[in-house]
Amino acid sequence: MHLFCHEHPETLVVETLAVDAQPGKLVLGQSPFYPGGGGQLADRGVLRWKGGEAKIVGFEVSAGKLWHLLDTQAEVSGTVEAAVDADFRHTMRQLHTGTHILNALVFQAFDGALVTGVQMAEDGSARMDFDVPGADNDRLRALEGPINEAIRENIPVNFVYLPMHEAQAEHGLIRSRSVAPPPTPDGKIRIVEIVGLDRQACGGTHLSSTGDSPAIRILKIDNKGRHNRRVRLALAKD
Ligand SMILES: [Zn+2]
Repeated sequence: MHLFCHEHPETLVVETLAVDAQPGKLVLGQSPFYPGGGGQLADRGVLRWKGGEAKIVGFEVSAGKLWHLLDTQAEVSGTVEAAVDADFRHTMRQLHTGTHILNALVFQAFDGALVTGVQMAEDGSARMDFDVPGADNDRLRALEGPINEAIRENIPVNFVYLPMHEAQAEHGLIRSRSVAPPPTPDGKIRIVEIVGLDRQACGGTHLSSTGDSPAIRILKIDNKGRHNRRVRLALAKD
């Protein structure tokens, strides 16, 4: 899926048209929202139109259309202004890039270990599950230093689209079926790159440079069965 927020992560307010509407939901001509997926929470925001305003509280994809769910039963038509909650999006971008940094370091330190799950939270924390049989939890915890070095180095983050067969042929590009985005209609998959550190298939929103993140703390490591470790991390509050 090509999303406007992939191409324009900095554009959080757009003026557009309601192209389809039912009571309490509508489809926009152009949507600045990230609808969720890959462990990243869906954006929140506000919709304003002549004579009204509503919160956007969720998304629904049906027959290839992205429906924006409102907190009212309004049936909206005409020109609208759609605005993403900027603080929320920024937290998600910081967390998402932070989870990729951790993922890269685990992948390097634990012999290509794969992600089995990831979930970011509104409070600026996230958990990541890795398939790392017999891993020493202290070694995982010690990755906090290298994560913050990567943030201090202010490494550029960019993206490209690769044909699916090329992505599948490059070792480590698809870290987990659960976090890889669906291919675009023309059979390509989005690859997010933290230059020189990490390249992986991802459909989320990211910082344009790692230095836009506060420091990251590793809070806790839990054993989830013999194979899996759950790493909890959080953005340091200043
Ligand atoms: Zn991702």
